[in-house]
Amino acid sequence: MTRSAFPNFHAFLDDGLAAIRQQGLLRQPQAMTSAPGAHGVCGGKDVIMLASNNYLGLANDERVCAAASEAIARFGTGTGGSRLTTGTLELHLALEEALARFKHTEAALLFNTGYMANVGIITALCGQGDVIFSDALNHASIIDGCRQSRADIIVYAHNDMADLEHKILQRKAAGDWRHGLVVSDSVFSMDGDIAKVPELARLAHAHDLPLMLDDAHATGVIGERGRGSEEHFCLEDAPANLRPDIVMGTLSKALGSEGGFVCGPKRLIEWLQNTSRSFIFSTALPAASVAAAHKALDILIEEPQRVARLRDNIALFCSILNEGGVRAQSPTAIVPIIVGDETKAVHAARALLEKGCFVSAIRYPSVARGSARLRFALCSEHNREDLARAAAAVMAALSH
Ligand SMILES: *Cc1c(COP(=O)(O)O)cnc(C)c1O
Repeated sequence: MTRSAFPNFHAFLDDGLAAIRQQGLLRQPQAMTSAPGAHGVCGGKDVIMLASNNYLGLANDERVCAAASEAIARFGTGTGGSRLTTGTLELHLALEEALARFKHTEAALLFNTGYMANVGIITALCGQGDVIFSDALNHASIIDGCRQSRADIIVYAHNDMADLEHKILQRKAAGDWRHGLVVSDSVFSMDGDIAKVPELARLAHAHDLPLMLDDAHATGVIGERGRGSEEHFCLEDAPANLRPDIVMGTLSKALGSEGGFVCGPKRLIEWLQNTSRSFIFSTALPAASVAAAHKALDILIEEPQRVARLRDNIALFCSILNEGGVRAQSPTAIVPIIVGDETKAVHAARALLEKGCFVSAIRYPSVARGSARLRFALCSEHNREDLARAAAAVMAALSH
């Protein structure tokens, strides 16, 4: 090893990494050498891809790719400016209109990623002296948004409406707040379960709190036609007091592209355009990403059979596993199989990869210590044979 000019700095990194490695928590990116479809190539090996969020196979759909290419030919690769300077293309405005229509809201706004959307929305709505009620299993981007906002963060037990109500009342008794917010994933990213949206809306509104939902894993997946959590609960055309006030999502999962978005009333969108720092201080999404997402959205609307196929695949995969004695159940495309021990989960994922099944071993800090799991993400483009092979490999890997 070369001698460092900053021995303390290097020791800090080496010791930190050694500690992570010792706990079986060291992570390294693995390079895929193919598009993120139902099948892929990893390390020169053909695999059934069971870990991608490309739920509807749209990230490698040729119509979506063509839309991206055409957008590059016309608008170039980079936008060269933020949305409020020179970066807004007509493509951005057209997609925002389409998203608002899709989610039955007045307006929508794009962000560069779902992560930036969550951070940018929450910090624009809450600050010091405010209070945010946040589900214990919310996504890291929501947690980071809450922390950056400097509001009081009150974490309620996962999907536990009695605990949320108790904590709202308790906080109320302790003194008034300026603004507040209730925020929840609608589909939880590590467990694949669904938030109790109608109860959340009722409870939040009864206490004068707006409700924000994260539809990242809901868009394109739940609801009869994949329109997300509101369609799932038949709330799309319900009176405003029964609906969430703010719905964010991402273009990077079922919509096969890159970027985040938020849907809501016009005044919310105008407020975010003027105050949300992650919206204001970053170069606008490139034309290719916007055009790809818009084409994917059009296909999702025109081909609801993709959503139905995904639903059938989830049911089939779980039923094969259940028949084989492995507990698996999910109302969404995320099917977790809890293993517990971190190292065991990693070994199971490795054994599956050897059998040609690419699946993620999810460990701390993505989930609590001791609740490591295999996390399957299914896709509408998996066929029955893929699912049967994957299920057989899981049963074999877990029986060791
Ligand atoms: C993936 C995800 C995000 C972040 O979206 P990106 O577009 O990947 O940055 C936010 N929330 C949830 C629940 C997610 O799963």
